Amino acid sequence: MEYIVIAIVLAVIIILLRLSFQSSEKDNKQKNPRKDARAKADMEKTSKFCPLCNSSLSKGENVKSKTYPASPGSTDTLMDVFGCPKCIPPIGTETRICPVCKKKIKADGFVIGRYFIKPDKNHLHVLGCTQCRKAK
Ligand SMILES: [Zn+2]
Ligand SMILES: [Zn+2]
Repeated sequence: MEYIVIAIVLAVIIILLRLSFQSSEKDNKQKNPRKDARAKADMEKTSKFCPLCNSSLSKGENVKSKTYPASPGSTDTLMDVFGCPKCIPPIGTETRICPVCKKKIKADGFVIGRYFIKPDKNHLHVLGCTQCRKAK
């Protein structure tokens, strides 16, 4: 009789283990498409990268920034760069790193850059983040 009980308990344990294994497998499958999509995005010739977290940006994903009106006749203007959908807190999960001081940018911080308006290609030159720009 006892053996039967043990056998049943063992069977239940095995079923439970299988169930938990299956569910973790399912979780992995759910995580993978994102990875695949990212790998795919890396494969595609994306010329756009987030200057703060270095994520490649797919169509529709844009770096959030604020430009100041350029003074008349000048070819550059100041720009505040907050990051991309992948790294802007609180939704973004990627870490925002300042390209100048290599430090993590605080949740309320951002990067200041000089934005050159050129007819062929606009160019952003990062000057620093709210922390290292302040320190100077
Ligand atoms: Zn980013
Ligand atoms: Zn910095």
